Amino acid sequence: MTHKNIAVFVAHEGCPNECSFCNQHIISGKQETASAADVQSAVETALKSGCFDGQLAFFGGSFTAIDRFYMLELLTAAKPFYEKGQISGIRISTRPDAIDEKILKILKEYGVKAIELGAQSMDDNVLFLNKRGHTADDVRVASKLIKEYDFELGLQMMTGLFGDTDKGALFTADEIIKLNPETVRIYPTVVLEGTELCRLYRAGKYQPQTIDDAVLLCGKLLLKFHKANIKVIRLGLHSGGNVEEGFVAGVYHPAFRELVEGQIYLDLILSRLKEKGEYKIFVNPKEISKMVGQNRKNIVQLKDNNYICKVFSDKSLGKYEINIEVDE
Ligand code: SF4
Repeated sequence: MTHKNIAVFVAHEGCPNECSFCNQHIISGKQETASAADVQSAVETALKSGCFDGQLAFFGGSFTAIDRFYMLELLTAAKPFYEKGQISGIRISTRPDAIDEKILKILKEYGVKAIELGAQSMDDNVLFLNKRGHTADDVRVASKLIKEYDFELGLQMMTGLFGDTDKGALFTADEIIKLNPETVRIYPTVVLEGTELCRLYRAGKYQPQTIDDAVLLCGKLLLKFHKANIKVIRLGLHSGGNVEEGFVAGVYHPAFRELVEGQIYLDLILSRLKEKGEYKIFVNPKEISKMVGQNRKNIVQLKDNNYICKVFSDKSLGKYEINIEVDE
């Protein structure tokens, strides 16, 4: 049985914010916002398919900032499935300043298990420049409260925002780690048509990250979270929706995570090899394709550096661990 969540799209119509990067219409595609009947039929369809064993995820908007009656309507439609054990829980995403004790009590009552906050940056200046309308402290306070109420905490961060730097993104990751979330999502910035970032970009005031810069930075971020035992459940914007249509500039690649993980292995090997020669590289069997890289990119690059490498599997090694032997 696959462990797949049921995703139900909730548009955040009338969101009072205008974050510099946001064009909800483009990010979410032309999906209609869900009704209570949609929630019911989405769960029933998934249950009938017999391949569902997970949570119901309300995604797309700031769930706790939408109209309260509408939010309760959606939760009420989901609750019976949770009570009967047909779904293991509900996950939602929202803004850090749309969390308080009252809302957490409501979410608990309806079977919400995981709450993801769009932190985006932990630098107040970056948050201000990108018109997020909340501070880093709002993220800290909301995260603490979510933990106190015993929800699973997820935090989302972005790289390459207006006014941000690599150093800033690494600082954001360190601050996020201090909040001890169970999961993290990392989104390199994509400049979409109709956004403030697009205007800044066209006026020559904002330069998005290149894909190579984002791959290098996200490799460092991924390792940081890995060492802190925090799962990165998403790296890069999902393909689909209208992103391709609205794309102006920035980092958007359908296999972005693969690129990043390939880079991690390449950097690990290059940091260990000093002398030209032939080597055996050992990695966990599940990691071989990442180590080899897309189209054997890493093997080719190592060869260009005069390191002739053959790859072998070793089950005793963990993720992002390698062993190297001279190939005699
Ligand atoms: S990203 Fe910003 S503008 Fe877009 S829906 Fe969320 S809070 Fe509103």
